[in-house]
Order: sequence, then structure tokens, then C-alpha cells
Amino acid sequence: MTQTEYKIYIDDIIRRVEFARVRVSEYHIVKIVAISKYSTSEEIEKLYNIGQRAFGENKVQDLKAKSAELEELPLEWHFVGNLQKNKINNLLDINPTLFHALDSIDLAHELQKKLEAKNMTLDALLQINSAKEESKHGVMPEVASETYEQIQKECPNIHLRGVMSIGAHSDDRAVIKKSFETTYDIYKELEGATICSMGMSGDFELAIECGSNMVRLGSVLFPK
Ligand SMILES: *Cc1c(COP(=O)(O)O)cnc(C)c1O
Repeated sequence: MTQTEYKIYIDDIIRRVEFARVRVSEYHIVKIVAISKYSTSEEIEKLYNIGQRAFGENKVQDLKAKSAELEELPLEWHFVGNLQKNKINNLLDINPTLFHALDSIDLAHELQKKLEAKNMTLDALLQINSAKEESKHGVMPEVASETYEQIQKECPNIHLRGVMSIGAHSDDRAVIKKSFETTYDIYKELEGATICSMGMSGDFELAIECGSNMVRLGSVLFPK
């Protein structure tokens, strides 16, 4: 694709996000985080040139490499992957805008220790395993609110901003929808939560319809 063709293509994706969000409400604003894990720094720069500012990675070493390569650009970096305890310091050195995948009280305690030592704070989302899938990380929906409050109480250097979830792995739209609704129902009861991160390339319109205000789009923004 030429840059012009790419721009037309991206405009169409943005239009799809727009249609979905105004169906919820004119005031329902949705932020797009471009997940660049399958993409090169050159491809990220192409999307930046069209106007995209927020990017996300799911591996600490990739986040480190790409944010360093592109440090001249005013980008916002999100970390959406599972965080191993031995990678916490590496992640904090990059100081991401938002960590989407805080998935246990254990990890929260470990993060808190390191944040305190570095005299830093980190904005984060609690990941919820809404469809209760073995293959997925995240806290179970039944304990999500309780865990959220516990982290708020016990981890003052972690600033929880809301929740993140990955839609159910299913071909059945009703099943995926139910997983989004489960996440949204938890989100809307949380005090002070402002971010509900759900929706990926294959299900973002449905996620927005269910209340998502942050979509994480990978393959659909970086067509090969
Ligand atoms: C890869 C990834 C995405 C984007 O996936 P696509 O289906 O390519 O849009 C979103 N969220 C997380 C946590 C991911 O790992």
C-alpha cells in the first residue's frame, strides 16, 4: 500500500470506531491504542504520520527496543502483555503510560515494592478473565472488585484507572458479548475507574457497544 492508500484504509477503521461509539452516545469517547507487536518501527512511524499517538506492546524487550528506536517521536507507550516478576524493573525503566495487564494481587505487591524503591508511580488496569478461560490471565470476575479495592488499599504507588479484558475466544458473538458485559458490569461499579480497555481487531465494535472506551487494535491497523 502507498501512504495515500494506507491513509484511506486507516480512515475507514476510524470511521468504524466512530460509528460504534456514537451508537452508544455522542459523548462516549473511545481511544485507540495501536498494538504494534507484529510491526516494525518503520510501520509504527507510518501510522504516526497519519495521526496515531498511542502504541502498545506485549513483550517488555520489544517495548524497550521500539520506544528507544522511536524516542524522537512524541508517542505514548502502553504495555498490554503479561508481566513476569523478573521483568518489572525493565518495564519501570521505560515508564509506560499505562500497564493494562495487572493480573494478580501477588504481582501488585511485587510491583508496589519496586515502585516504592524507585520512588515512582504507575497507572494500571486490572485484567479480568471474564470468560474464565484456562488460557487467559486475569482475576476471576467474582473477586475482581474485591481485588481492585485491595490493590488500591495496599499498593499506593499503583494508580488503578480501570479494567482490561480480552473477549471470549469463541465464534459465537453472544458468548463474546457476554464476556464484555461481565467486564463492563464490574467496571461501572468501581469507584473512580475511568478506563474500560476491551476490544481487539476481530471484536472492537461489539466491545464498544458493550461500553469499552479503549480498544487495542493490532492486525487491523497494520495490514500485511
Ligand atoms: C495482540 C494483542 C492485541 C491486538 O490483537 P489484534 O487481534 O491483532 O488486534 C490486543 N490486546 C492484547 C493484550 C494483545 O496481546
